[in-house]
Amino acid sequence: MKEAKKLFIDGEWVSSSTGETFEVRNPASGEVIAQVAKGTRDDTKKAIQAARRAFDESGWGESKARDRAELLWKAADLIEERAEEFAQTDTRNNGKPLRESRYDVADAVNQFRYYAGLCTKPQGQTYDVPDDIQAMVVREPIGVVGAITCWNYPLVMNAQKVAPALAAGNTLVLKPADLTPLSTIMLFECLEKAGFPPGVANLVTGPGSVVGDEISRNESVDKVAFTGGTETGITIMKNAADTVKKLSLELGGKSPNIVFADADFETAVDYALFAIFANQGEVCSAGSRLLLEEGIYETFLARLVERAQKIVVGDGANPETEMGPLISEGHMERVLDYIRIGLDEGARLLCGGKRLTSHGLEKGYFVEPTIFAVDHRNDLRIVQEEIFGPVLVVQKFRTEQEAVQLANSTKYGLAGAVFTNDGARAQRIIRKMRAGITWINTYHPTFNEAPWGGYKMSGIGRELGTYGYEAYTELKQININMNVKPSGWFRN
Ligand code: NAD
Repeated sequence: MKEAKKLFIDGEWVSSSTGETFEVRNPASGEVIAQVAKGTRDDTKKAIQAARRAFDESGWGESKARDRAELLWKAADLIEERAEEFAQTDTRNNGKPLRESRYDVADAVNQFRYYAGLCTKPQGQTYDVPDDIQAMVVREPIGVVGAITCWNYPLVMNAQKVAPALAAGNTLVLKPADLTPLSTIMLFECLEKAGFPPGVANLVTGPGSVVGDEISRNESVDKVAFTGGTETGITIMKNAADTVKKLSLELGGKSPNIVFADADFETAVDYALFAIFANQGEVCSAGSRLLLEEGIYETFLARLVERAQKIVVGDGANPETEMGPLISEGHMERVLDYIRIGLDEGARLLCGGKRLTSHGLEKGYFVEPTIFAVDHRNDLRIVQEEIFGPVLVVQKFRTEQEAVQLANSTKYGLAGAVFTNDGARAQRIIRKMRAGITWINTYHPTFNEAPWGGYKMSGIGRELGTYGYEAYTELKQININMNVKPSGWFRN
């Protein structure tokens, strides 16, 4: 095996302070594909101090938008130059089909270019106020950002924190998911080559309970930007509370996809499959609850199952593959447990439900596309809890009111969609849906220009677009006296 991948702290590639490493696997084969430095609490503290110095003392805190934009643009070019290597790495490390990895790389490049452009655009406001005062607000960087991320979109997830954080003039310490650090290490090679000054962007790979914990507690971190599970988000929020850090949380979901009888049938079937089985269902915004109007329930299910059974599952590196393996053995077991729970709860298994161990797949973590029908039951665990895998739960509704009530009936509020040819009804439903990302007659398309984030226990704040940029800034009001003389408030 090649030399272990290192941490990037204060502009240097370094081993962990204990010299320890951890294994990274290919989920399609279970094979170890890299050894990566296992960052410690001390390593994390060093990275945070480097980011602090870079922000407070090295001038990055006062850097000019135009200069930052140039660096971000260079980083985008460098990622693009290695686009195929990035895509192959994400597929090997995460398992997702190559066509999805390639899409992710293009998305990440676009994020760097988008924020390179945005940071040079007009910002702030001025106010017409009484007296001889000129009042205005300016946006300033928050300081040191600690970013902690998940494994389902290894490159994009990190790019969408790094690009706006640096564009706004912050410094950062990033901890990627321990299951998928490889493309993030490549991303930092690009940042180094682009010429970001030492300490501005630091990378510490390692366990969440150590590196992530230190980031969320350390008093020198001003903001934590987190993507991951809701339980972890709650822990981070509690740990960050003692030092009143700014917080962005992108958490879990159990998103509803509502289909009315008047919808275009084949389009709705097609998107119902895409909503849950894209990226193996390991998507926070997956359409994991399908709500069907009573009149089309059985015909829709029949067509859905027919098509789900034809999905080509395999190694993401094979160009024929449409759905890859789950991220790890542990996660696969968790998904299979949920399938057992569904059966115990009396849900009707329509297809799938098993680990795939046919020739060539036996060493990987493959699970069949799985569909359960639960009819009118809403309180089952498989309806209420996030499974984060290729498991769809289908419910039946009679009225528009019932559809909305079911759609809003979990603790989550990340995404949701409605399929209908009645334009007014589509808008009524979407406006009543308690979710941050919604679609009419489609599912999943999202754009770097628009804000990403959830209602309820799906998170706090928004990433991407202008809102995502503002989330990496503080607002300062400035009042300028245009008639400089004593106030006369006190008589003597
Ligand atoms: P997770 O919460 O277990 O891990 C996410 C990150 O947090 C990892 O880097 C992990 O090492 C770190 N971590 C773990 N414990 C920590 C602690 N105590 N302190 C600090 N950091 C810690 O997430 P997961 O289960 O691997 O990922 C799946 C979840 O992520 C799903 O719930 C999914 O919906 C969610 N997700 C949300 C979005 C979104 O945009 N809303 C996007 C992708 C994934």
